[in-house]
Amino acid sequence: MLNKKSVDDINVKGKKVLCRCDFNVPLIDGKITDENRLVAALPTIKKLIADGGRVILCSHLGKPKGEPKPELSLAPVAVRLSELLDQEVKFVPSDVVVDDSVKAAVDAMKDGEVILLQNTRYRAEETKNGEAFSKELASLCDVFVNDAFGTAHRAHCSNVGVTQFVDTAVVGYLMQKEIDFLGNAVNNPERPFVAILGGAKVSSKISVIENLIDKVDTLIIGGGMSYTFCKAKGGSVGKSLLEEDYCEYALNMLKKADEKGVKLLLPVDNVIADDFSNDANSKVVNAGEIPEGWEGLDIGPETAKIFAAAVKDAKTVVWNGPMGCFEMPNFAKGTEAVAKALAETDAVTIIGGGDSAAAVNQLGYGDKMTHISTGGGASLEFLEGKELPGVAAANDK
Ligand code: AMP
Repeated sequence: MLNKKSVDDINVKGKKVLCRCDFNVPLIDGKITDENRLVAALPTIKKLIADGGRVILCSHLGKPKGEPKPELSLAPVAVRLSELLDQEVKFVPSDVVVDDSVKAAVDAMKDGEVILLQNTRYRAEETKNGEAFSKELASLCDVFVNDAFGTAHRAHCSNVGVTQFVDTAVVGYLMQKEIDFLGNAVNNPERPFVAILGGAKVSSKISVIENLIDKVDTLIIGGGMSYTFCKAKGGSVGKSLLEEDYCEYALNMLKKADEKGVKLLLPVDNVIADDFSNDANSKVVNAGEIPEGWEGLDIGPETAKIFAAAVKDAKTVVWNGPMGCFEMPNFAKGTEAVAKALAETDAVTIIGGGDSAAAVNQLGYGDKMTHISTGGGASLEFLEGKELPGVAAANDK
């Protein structure tokens, strides 16, 4: 059970609070094209302001590779945050992120004021968790708050190194929510507990399968990775996505599920196409009966019904990875059927970040889910049962 101190457990009145956020937003010509991450950071920032902290925000943005890149400046974020918070967020840009001018700006802050530092990845040491930059960041503050779940699976100066040089390091509300759902709900789920895994490859989900198979009552496998399981069972998969090297692994997993009494559901039918294109000829066939020259791009309607029935009576459902090539409308029906089933169940529904989160939002079911993770890689590592350095670095309760 992860029990980390949060912003609710500290008193920040009059204190300098360095708050690591995930402001890694998409920018086109200096314009923010998706501000979800800014909005997600607001509850913690507002709490720190309301409690009278002197709030110093920091984040990375893109990959400037350790040097100043004007197109990856956080300047547009300061402007938009000021609007969202309805108070000035003063941008204190320095090409080295922390220097005397930044220190002077921090020293001049009053309670409840907010400043934003420059992109932490302007410094090469950031991604190497270097000591000097970690100390510089720590020297700015009395208290450190980490609310950047998207980078929690990385040990960098601004989320891990800095904590070695401050007495108090806690998590923000966004991090707390991710810990509660991805960590605690998965490790201590209300049953029946159903996991749905999809996406392109078995190889990238092995650790997730291995971790979850010990915990779930039902494991559903769809998407590109299901064809390796199908082939392993002796089926014909045509030119579908296949990882021959993992067929034996797939058989072992089927055996393991059987031994543990875990129900492992695979597609019974597929939507197949004669080309990897939305306009390809397509038809529905039984799983394992895909002709040469055709490829499976979605689960079929019978499978969608079976998968939906499996989540209907669940109490906890975790979903990671689409059921097919949902980016092409003609092959999005299976993913949509699963999203709809999750939207309709009374279960706690937890969506891993990345593609599944994008699919749920794109299909309009976002607000029907209990929790949609904000971190792609980080949520996957959580589901693998790994300890995330950014979470581990916060003080225990
Ligand atoms: P992942 O990053 O492993 O979760 O994979 C997500 C990607 O898998 C999405 O871009 C889907 O289009 C793709 N995908 C899902 N099912 C299939 C399939 N049957 N054939 C090819 N690609 C697929």
